[in-house]
Amino acid sequence: MRQNTFKQNLSFAIIVLRTAFRTRNVKRKLMIKMKQYDVIVIGGGPSGLMAAIAAGEQGADVLLIDKGNKLGRKLAISGGGRCNVTNRLPVEEIIKHIPGNGRFLYSAFSEFNNEDIIKFFENLGIKLKEEDHGRMFPVTDKAQSVVDALLNRLKQLRVTIRTNEKIKSVTYEDGHAAGIVTNNGEVIHSQAVIIAVGGKSVPHTGSTGDGYEWAEAAGHTITELFPTEVPVTSAEPFIKKKTLQGLSLRDVAVSVLNKKGKAIVTHKMDMLFTHFGLSGPAILRCSQFIVKELKKQPEVPVRIDLFPDINEETLFQKMHKELKDAPKKALKNVLKPWMQERYLLFLLEKNGISPNISFSELPKEPFRQFVKDCKQFTVLANGTLSLDKAFVTGGGVSVKEIDPKKMASKKMDGLYFCGEILDIHGYTGGYNITSALVTGRLAGLNAGRFSLT
Ligand SMILES: Cc1cc2nc3c(=O)[nH]c(=O)nc-3n(C[C@H](O)[C@H](O)[C@H](O)COP(=O)(O)OP(=O)(O)OC[C@H]3O[C@@H](n4cnc5c(N)ncnc54)[C@H](O)[C@@H]3O)c2cc1C
Repeated sequence: MRQNTFKQNLSFAIIVLRTAFRTRNVKRKLMIKMKQYDVIVIGGGPSGLMAAIAAGEQGADVLLIDKGNKLGRKLAISGGGRCNVTNRLPVEEIIKHIPGNGRFLYSAFSEFNNEDIIKFFENLGIKLKEEDHGRMFPVTDKAQSVVDALLNRLKQLRVTIRTNEKIKSVTYEDGHAAGIVTNNGEVIHSQAVIIAVGGKSVPHTGSTGDGYEWAEAAGHTITELFPTEVPVTSAEPFIKKKTLQGLSLRDVAVSVLNKKGKAIVTHKMDMLFTHFGLSGPAILRCSQFIVKELKKQPEVPVRIDLFPDINEETLFQKMHKELKDAPKKALKNVLKPWMQERYLLFLLEKNGISPNISFSELPKEPFRQFVKDCKQFTVLANGTLSLDKAFVTGGGVSVKEIDPKKMASKKMDGLYFCGEILDIHGYTGGYNITSALVTGRLAGLNAGRFSLT
């Protein structure tokens, strides 16, 4: 009986010892797998690259991790593949060109602005040149030279880079960011985490919206996501028939009209008719206003003014005089210098005017209407292409919950956001990249400082 009890106790002790040993081994294995950094930056777009550099410059031990095989993929295709690094307009103008919460960037710009971006790149050996509308490009016209300069700086600063590594989640412990978990289950610890994973547009560049969930887990609000800087669709018969497909109009004033027919916004730039609707710089800039207006009306009028610098009556008088002065010439030949022939023929046909008639046959009222169309031809927009086809994602992590001087989360210590994941969106032309680089700079500086205190 005594012997039996002894045996039982012995086997119980062995089980306890074995379990303890196994647990210790598991823990040790985990410890080997866990690595400690001062700062982890998730995402190697312009915001993440800049954040990693800024944190590294503070002396922090930084890990930059990206799920793609290359860093800066979207940056490399911006500005038609030449990398539209920033814009040289004055700060006040830059803010105006960031209609999605541009004002939130005032404090950030007082620390680091577009001129600082230019100096920053020049210090890295990348000379920039200014093009139309203040857009800045590398003189090499090669996006890769910009990306390489950033990568060299990361190397100098001994930032650890890991690519092809998808992050599954950000870990939070007792009200502070504690690190990340990779898709392979690897746990990496850090004092601070910077989320720089971009928005949801053009997902083949890596921006698939993974960061919103991590932000929500930290208690952040994600404002409604929508496509911006996106081509617009229309069911107008002439669009469906592809009558004007491929025609581009130069320097026209495009306005988005509300229900009362009042212009909500006007942009004077080029535009393009496509097989599905409208595109080109003026339309891209108007697109976010169309998206918002489509919530109020099923089809939104988009007005095209071909001659924004001349009023309708003056235009009528000038065209009328030219026709009168050449009474034998066909209408289309007199008016050809005014606009592209395809557009001229389209507007004449729309108003039932034969292009071959001469001045004596000119119908008065239809001609008035034709001149009116030159100034205010209206296309009904019924939608836009989808978010993944948009240049930029509107909405994101609410800026109300972000410290504008530090890009730090107001909800979680040691957590920082930068770039397009934030509810900030600008027009194309270098404004989104400027926002990404500026917010990245601040996030990196402050995460670096935070991690070292
Ligand atoms: C075709 C095109 C042209 C553009 N042209 C202009 C322009 O002329 N001017 C302008 O201002 N803006 C332009 N933009 C917009 C601009 O490029 C973006 O606003 C900018 O790149 C956003 O930078 P970001 O660092 O926030 O994110 P991104 O550049 O989107 O980078 C995010 C990075 O995070 C990584 N990532 C995402 N999820 C994970 C995860 N789970 N784990 C690990 N890594 C992850 C991605 O792989 C990616 O590398 C253009 C965009 C496109 C698509």
